[in-house]
Formats: sequence, structure tokens, C-alpha cells
Amino acid sequence: MKNKKTKSTKSKVHTTKDSAVVKISSKGRIKELISTKKNSSAKQPSQTVSAPATNLMISVSGIRGIVGDGLTPEVVTKYASAFGTWANGGKIVIGRDSRVSGEMVRMAVVAGLLATGCRVIDIGIVSTPTTEIAVKNLKAYGGIAITASHNPVNWNALKLIGPKGLFLDQAQGNEVIELALKENIQYQHWDRLGKIEYYDHAIQNHIDQILELEYLNVSQIRDRRFKVVIDCVNGAGGIFIPKLLREMGCEVLILNEEPHGIFPRNPEPVAENLNQLANAVIEYKADIGLAVDPDVDRLAIVDENGQPIGEEYTLALAVDFILSRKPGAVVINASTSMAIDDIAQKYGCTVFRTKIGEINVSTKMHEKNAVIGGEGNGGVILPEIHYGRDAATGIALVLQYLSASGKKISELKQTLPQYTMIKTKIDLAKVNVDQILQKIINKNDAKKVDRTDGVKLIYDHAWIHFRKSNTEPILRTIVEARTQQEAEKLLSSFTLFFK
Ligand code: MG
Repeated sequence: MKNKKTKSTKSKVHTTKDSAVVKISSKGRIKELISTKKNSSAKQPSQTVSAPATNLMISVSGIRGIVGDGLTPEVVTKYASAFGTWANGGKIVIGRDSRVSGEMVRMAVVAGLLATGCRVIDIGIVSTPTTEIAVKNLKAYGGIAITASHNPVNWNALKLIGPKGLFLDQAQGNEVIELALKENIQYQHWDRLGKIEYYDHAIQNHIDQILELEYLNVSQIRDRRFKVVIDCVNGAGGIFIPKLLREMGCEVLILNEEPHGIFPRNPEPVAENLNQLANAVIEYKADIGLAVDPDVDRLAIVDENGQPIGEEYTLALAVDFILSRKPGAVVINASTSMAIDDIAQKYGCTVFRTKIGEINVSTKMHEKNAVIGGEGNGGVILPEIHYGRDAATGIALVLQYLSASGKKISELKQTLPQYTMIKTKIDLAKVNVDQILQKIINKNDAKKVDRTDGVKLIYDHAWIHFRKSNTEPILRTIVEARTQQEAEKLLSSFTLFFK
């Protein structure tokens, strides 16, 4: 049975064999809507389109869904096969976080890659940046990181990585999606199937690369014998970060070390999820508390008093440290704290802002030859290691900064520009978001409206940013001001638009 397509002026709707409806928006955003009704038919796309859109999201940044309800082995194998076809049966590195579903998804990925003739190098349970770096180090054609990052335990995803070790860009991602949608997959016969190999040194290679950084004086860090509490949330960090810390001479207390994927709390490393870490820092009289997300690309810090310093300050610390050593361009996303602008100004450096999404920041960093960049959610990107967010690199830079300054982490934070940020989410099912955003633009009193990604209204020493999430069906609203009170006041002035 061939795929049936219905043309529309705004979007194309593809129906597929398994009663799925795939909608390609005019902006290239793709959602595959899986009908939950057994008898819903490909002949009735209008019924299927109204099914919940939340269970499987296909975008250039990856294939993300709820395990067993959207993200099935069939879907995983289809996209892995499409990726294997796109890679022309080349060498592909795969790594995964510790999720319970990780092994099932890994097997489906491997099946798709072997079926399309790929040579698969499995590096095991690792951080996403470790997989990206291994693609480069092992001279592979690409990679697949199996992880739903900070999303809850019932989610999993494939993040597709290109030959340079970067996530696929828009054009590359669309090519893979097209191959999958058109079922234009080059399956190989028995004598041309791929082979799988296992590589155990990817984490150590990553650690070695960090310890060799020109910015680090590892013996100086070792001399400080930092007491560190690390919360690995039972993700991939447990088999990686404690090892790195010990190599830097730290005394380490590990929380949630076992990489079994049963997260003891919401795995996003934001302040409200870090109580256990904060208490442990106080009890253990530690110098610093660290938290990483399940795939270890985001880093949050708790100071020696058990106070989370705020995820935005992870990048702010790293930027301040790097610019003090090597002034140059900085690239951040549209939602990142203006503390970075102030820090860059102090060193006479330029800040460039991009759309949200690691690949957008990475690409711009490359273009501007930036010395550091990242995303305010705790994602530090240092080109010397890799053009991707890496919590481990962030940890090394912060410990170096601490040891060189001789200050405590709370004191170091006080030297940085002080802002407060509030992040909220609005469920898209309840509002007509495009209409609301237009009303906001029409009625705003801002100094500047920035449309880099969604709508950002910029005032003197404050801003508010509305944007649709790339990974969840929500509208993210982020507001930043000099004080909590100012931030709350600005945020509340917009609540009437969402009633
Ligand atoms: Mg992550």
C-alpha cells in the first residue's frame, strides 16, 4: 500500500500504513500523530489529526516520544534505518543514557542500522557529549544518542549526530525525515548487513581531553582537595563524573550514582529538584554541590551553604572564567541571562544570540570563532573540547575558577551581575498561541521586540520571552529582571493574555 498524501496550502498531511498521520508544518516542523483508536483508519486523516500530538515528536533535532505509546520499536527502527540510509551504511557510534527503556530502544536502533549496512560502534551508557565526541574521535560518519535528556522516565528519544559530532542541522535532519516518511530506505541483503563492535574507552577519552585543557592547572585543583557532592540522578553521570572529580583530586560524595534509570526525583537539574543535594552539601560541609541531568549535558551548582546558585549562573561562571583568560566572541541562545552580556562587556567582548537549540548555538560559535558559548539551562560549550553542551567541561572550568580565585562558590557568584529569572510553562492545548503572541506584539510597550525565536520583549534591565518548546507541547515563558519582585511584576502584566 502506497502512502497517501493530502495537499493543503499551509501544510502537507501524510498518512502511513500504520494509521499514523504525519503533519509537516510550513516551517518544516514535523509531528507524527499516532492514533490511539484501534480502528482509526488512514482513510480518515481528519479524525486522526485530532488525536493527542504529545506522544511522538519528530523534528530535525530528533525523534522523541513516550515509550510504548508513540515511541515503539517499529518507529525507532524506521528512523534508525532512515539514518543508516542517509549515512550510506557508514560507521555509526551509538551511546545511551541509563533509562529503563534504553536497552529496548538500543536494540531497535541497532537493528535499523545493521539492516542498512552500517558498522555500529556501541560505546555503552555514556553522556550525550561523550557520544558526540566519540563520533569525531572514532572518525565515524555519524552517531545516535539514545536519550530523552531531562524528560521524565517514560520518555526516550534518538538524537541524530552528523560526521562532525554535531547534531544534525535543519537540512540534514529534513533529509533523514524525508527518507523515513517516503519509506525510501536502502535495506541490505544478508551478505551486506552491518556489524556491531563495542568500544569501552569513550568516557576515559572524554576525561583525558578535559584534563588536557590549556585552561586547567590540574595540580592546582588537586591541591585544593575540594569536597564535592554530585547528584547523578541515576543517569549516565554516575559512571563518568565521579571518576573525573577523583582525577581532579576531589573528595567525592555521590548521590543517586547507580545508572539504572529509575530517577529518584524529577530529573531536570533546576533549583526546586535539588533539595537532597542541598541538604547533603550542608551535612557533608562540602565546598560545592553539582547536579547533572540524565545525559549529562546540563550542569547545576549548589553553593557551600546549600543554596542553588541558579542554572543560568553555571554558564555565567564559565564565561567569566574563559573571557578572563581568552577574550573573544560569546554565543548564547535568546533565552539566556543578560548577565552574560554584562560579563562580556566587562572584557570588551561581543555576544551573539541564536534560536534555542544546541545546534543553533554550535553553528554560530563556529561561524564567529567564539571562545565560549552555551545555553542558560546549564549547558556550557567550549570549542576546545567540542561544539556541544558538556556538563563535565563545565565542572572542570568551575573548579579551576574556584581554585584560582581562592574564593568560595557563593563569593564567586556575588562577583557576577545579579539577575533573577522566572521560567514558566503554558499548556498549548489550552490556548491559541499564535493569536496570543500577535496580541502581545501589538500591545507591548517594550524598548525592543526580538523575533529571533518566538517573541522576546526587551526593556531596560529586564525582558520577557515567549516561545514554543522544541521538545514538548508547551509555550515556555521566561522573564528576567534585577529582582524577583520586578520579574514577578513583569510576568503578571502578561497573565491577562492567557485567560
Ligand atoms: Mg540533557
